[in-house]
Amino acid sequence: MVKTDWKSEEEIRYSLGNAEKVAILSCAACANLCDTGGSVGIHILKKLLKGWNKKVVFSSCVTACCSEEIMRQALKRHRRKLSRSDALIVLSCASGIKSACMCETGIPVIAVLDTLGITPITNRDSKLARSACTTCDHCVLIYTGGICPLTECPAKKKYGPCKDYPEHGARCAVNPDIDCVWKDIEKAGDLPALKRLEQLHKAEGAARFRPDIVGWKSPSLLRSVAGKIAARPWILDKFIRFIN
Ligand code: SF4
Ligand code: SF4
Repeated sequence: MVKTDWKSEEEIRYSLGNAEKVAILSCAACANLCDTGGSVGIHILKKLLKGWNKKVVFSSCVTACCSEEIMRQALKRHRRKLSRSDALIVLSCASGIKSACMCETGIPVIAVLDTLGITPITNRDSKLARSACTTCDHCVLIYTGGICPLTECPAKKKYGPCKDYPEHGARCAVNPDIDCVWKDIEKAGDLPALKRLEQLHKAEGAARFRPDIVGWKSPSLLRSVAGKIAARPWILDKFIRFIN
């Protein structure tokens, strides 16, 4: 899932500007799992807006805000109420904000969540889950025991530890308050293979495989019907709350 967290109250207020009447669309998928979207996110946001005397014209869950088609159908469904709103708040990751912007609502789109990265869904406190992926292009996870070095290493070393690593033992040379993540990577991963991978990434072999998927794309009418159905996501919202 894509991990999101709330922005500061100051930033949310700043982004709202003079908007008095707002509409809320909330993602029933990833943000719902993070308790920043879905019905929980709407509930939290409404409470905050009430304290600032902002009026919520309408609020609704959207199956997945990251789909432009679903977002478009959800906006279409609520267009009358939307026309009475000063701003649209989207409770989702950056993809959902982009989808809403692509739909050209005619009113400002407001983000109240920050996108922290991609990580598995788990209730466990795990190094693997904590080191959320921030999408660096060429991934090295299978050589690092599932730990993202770019997220965890302050020097942003991806193919091996920094040059100060051996002297400083288990503590990080850049930030002595934390342990060096490369100690864990050394144990769980495969550093020699990672070095060889670096060469591959730098060489021409790093060009992406481009399969021909043109014939697999669904026709736009089907996409539109699927978007209409998916714009009514109350079942998904409840289901995700249940498994979370
Ligand atoms: S190395 Fe880390 S940031 Fe890069 S793609 Fe893999 S998990 Fe994401
Ligand atoms: S000591 Fe380890 S964690 Fe710290 S910057 Fe160097 S490689 Fe990264």
